[in-house]
Amino acid sequence: MNIYISIDMEGISGISSVSQTDPNNPRYKEGLYFMKRELEEIVKILKNFNVRKIVVNDAHWNMDNLNFIDLDLDIELISGSPKMLSMMEGINSNFDYAFFIGYHSSANTIHGFIDHTYSSLTISEIKINNRRVNEAYINGLIASYYNVPVGLISGDDKLFDECKNIFLDCEFVITKYSISRNAVKLKNPIIVYDDYKNAIEKVLNKKIKPLEIPKEFEIEITFRKTEMADIVEILPIVERIDGNKVKFKENDFIRAFRYIRVIINLARNA
Ligand SMILES: [Zn+2]
Repeated sequence: MNIYISIDMEGISGISSVSQTDPNNPRYKEGLYFMKRELEEIVKILKNFNVRKIVVNDAHWNMDNLNFIDLDLDIELISGSPKMLSMMEGINSNFDYAFFIGYHSSANTIHGFIDHTYSSLTISEIKINNRRVNEAYINGLIASYYNVPVGLISGDDKLFDECKNIFLDCEFVITKYSISRNAVKLKNPIIVYDDYKNAIEKVLNKKIKPLEIPKEFEIEITFRKTEMADIVEILPIVERIDGNKVKFKENDFIRAFRYIRVIINLARNA
């Protein structure tokens, strides 16, 4: 069995402050400790269940948090950015399952711990076909594009609320309970690691289908500032619909995702 892991940081157990997820902050080393520890536990569990190949894509910030100097694991590691598929770089149809580890709720979630969608600085909200989406759904569509089901999602309880009616047979590990954007009640990481064991055992004995992929996509992006929409509307594919809102249509989700990435980068420089 081959498992693809996309690992973010905000939803990792033990992490209780945005400062622990910021590589420029002295407290980042605390966050990194928990991120590595959680990955080690997951890999150990997978190896115990005879999973042969594990590819881990570092999906947080500049995506170069993990390295082999202090990570003694039998995995392949995808590191750095930019990557064409970003948090999903390296996914392909050879994987049996994708796992989303340490994820978080979408931008504009009430009381969602460090809620954001791909870019805190630029994005207020992303809607796909008129529904607000989070990174898990966007990345789930990418996995499904390659016919890979999402087997496991971990993160805070608000993420679980957003995902439970979309990823129907998927297993969830709740790592913490959000109180507000910057406040959280942490589960004990030791309990969380145990939850992973149960969840992974269940996943490996299930048959989960990939998400159904819509035939066409209308992507609506709300920016933090109107000047971001001013620059993005120059892209011919984009239609301006409000002071800080644009939309575009695409039939192919990978193309749509690439547009989203380019749009975020344009907005960032506005
Ligand atoms: Zn992140």
